[in-house]
Amino acid sequence: MRGGVRKLILDLLRPAAFFSSIYQIDLDRLQKRGIKGLIFDLDNTIVEWGSPVAGEELLAWFKALRERGFLSCLLSNNSPARVNYFAGRLGIPGIYKAGKPRRRSYRAALELLGTAPQETAIIGDQVFTDILGGNRLGLYTILVTPLSQREFLGTRLVRRLERLVLGRWLGRFNGT
Ligand SMILES: [Mg+2]
Repeated sequence: MRGGVRKLILDLLRPAAFFSSIYQIDLDRLQKRGIKGLIFDLDNTIVEWGSPVAGEELLAWFKALRERGFLSCLLSNNSPARVNYFAGRLGIPGIYKAGKPRRRSYRAALELLGTAPQETAIIGDQVFTDILGGNRLGLYTILVTPLSQREFLGTRLVRRLERLVLGRWLGRFNGT
């Protein structure tokens, strides 16, 4: 029973793949898996938190994604102004104030892309929002290292909580 609960929780939090940055993502592997749609977190995934700049490298990479036939969108808990700005720069749709990990916003993203969950990946830097929400809907989940240590105060607190809670769970499940 406990093993089952443990597996359920860990499976929901575990990313299917991990890369040090979006530029390291193995696009060939994604296409071989049948992935057609890419849902991107914004802050600390494709740009540093608080950064107002979409650099040349980022623009070129999204252009390459488009040329490969990937459909992309942004899914962010941040404000309309910030999300719309980057969506416009990248030439992709964006969903703001998403309320991740709630499933509703992921469903809206799937609808925007027109892809099924099993042919869609979510790429983000946070386990408890990006990855958890993606796993709940059966997306292919990709965790990347946060671009910056700087982030929303609430996020910093959540990260501490994540470590604390995960540690407790693991401790309990290990019978200590
Ligand atoms: Mg993020």
